[in-house]
Amino acid sequence: MPSVNPPHSLKLLFVSTPVGPLGSGLGGGVELTLRNIATELQRRGHHLTILAPEGSDLGDLPIAQIPGELQPTAQTQGRQTPVTLSAHSVLANLWEVARSRQSEFDLICNFAYDWLPFYLTPFFQRPIAHLVSMGSLSDVMDEIIERVAIAFPGSIGVHSRAQAATFSFGDRCRCLFNGFDFGAYEFCETPDHTLAWVGRISPEKGLEDAVAASQKSGIPLKIFGYLQDKDYWHEIRETYPDAAIAYCGFLETKQLQRELGRSRALLVTPRWVEAFGNVVVEALACGVPAIAYRRGGPAEIVSDGETGWLVEPDSVEGLVEAISQLDRLDRRTCRDRAEGQFSVSAMGDRMEKWFYDLLGA
Ligand code: UDP
Repeated sequence: MPSVNPPHSLKLLFVSTPVGPLGSGLGGGVELTLRNIATELQRRGHHLTILAPEGSDLGDLPIAQIPGELQPTAQTQGRQTPVTLSAHSVLANLWEVARSRQSEFDLICNFAYDWLPFYLTPFFQRPIAHLVSMGSLSDVMDEIIERVAIAFPGSIGVHSRAQAATFSFGDRCRCLFNGFDFGAYEFCETPDHTLAWVGRISPEKGLEDAVAASQKSGIPLKIFGYLQDKDYWHEIRETYPDAAIAYCGFLETKQLQRELGRSRALLVTPRWVEAFGNVVVEALACGVPAIAYRRGGPAEIVSDGETGWLVEPDSVEGLVEAISQLDRLDRRTCRDRAEGQFSVSAMGDRMEKWFYDLLGA
């Protein structure tokens, strides 16, 4: 292993999620997380190479485009579902390139919530840092992540304490939270009479509760995000034919923050333990308070009564009550608090420290 000492600049290989090209929305929060970390580490003088599925776009960041069949997303599989790998798998191709090029790098960082990179870890000569983007979803993943956590102490990173707690080996995980470039988000002092919901449109995200709460409150809801499950979306439309909702599509960050900033609040209604909840910080960055179920990462981001309201999980009544209390929150405080806690530079410090620790520096 190469010996490195801080502030030695690192040669880093980032291996992206195999569920979709970067920029497509298919990868959920991982896409922005990878972009923010890569941009910050590159700014600090580290040398980055990113392997990602063909069709990826991250602006100026250097991407090696890897062809192949995309991997199914883990949150759509059951707990007992076995590992699948198709012919011409992009996941296999990504890790074949990582294996063959590993000697060019000090360290590899894995952004995929997939079995293969964990399984391969002991066979690599270079250390692999695994940034796990979801909580416990399947037995086979729990088993392989735990094996790596034990054999390679400190190599498993997570985004929140709540996410770590979903794993029986949670105390072996390193909590890194997330970081954002606040310069990319404009503060909006005076909102329109609208609420917002942002995320992949998929059952684990619980959009129907936000729609119900908007209808009961009489405040229109704007919905932003990748339409992952069309049947689910149509069911919501049929269940709430009179709801004042507008689907605004999957927007690029610049456009998203402009639209999102005009909302009175972001509704965050996941059914699952959200690992972090990028959209919560993005809303706060625009001065938009978040009304979130007291569950998972969002409950660690929102400061109840200051930057939003935390509500009993799965309670539409709770959401409605919180919406009626929005005037008690100060939008400037939302932005300032989030900026103090989740800046990209603080995230850069945490990532660098993690990598140097793994390299034994
Ligand atoms: N997002 C986006 N455009 C949209 C809606 C969402 O770029 O119109 C991004 C958003 O910036 C965030 C991600 O989608 O980074 C959703 O991530 P989150 O952590 O909230 O949830 P996940 O999809 O990972 O479960």
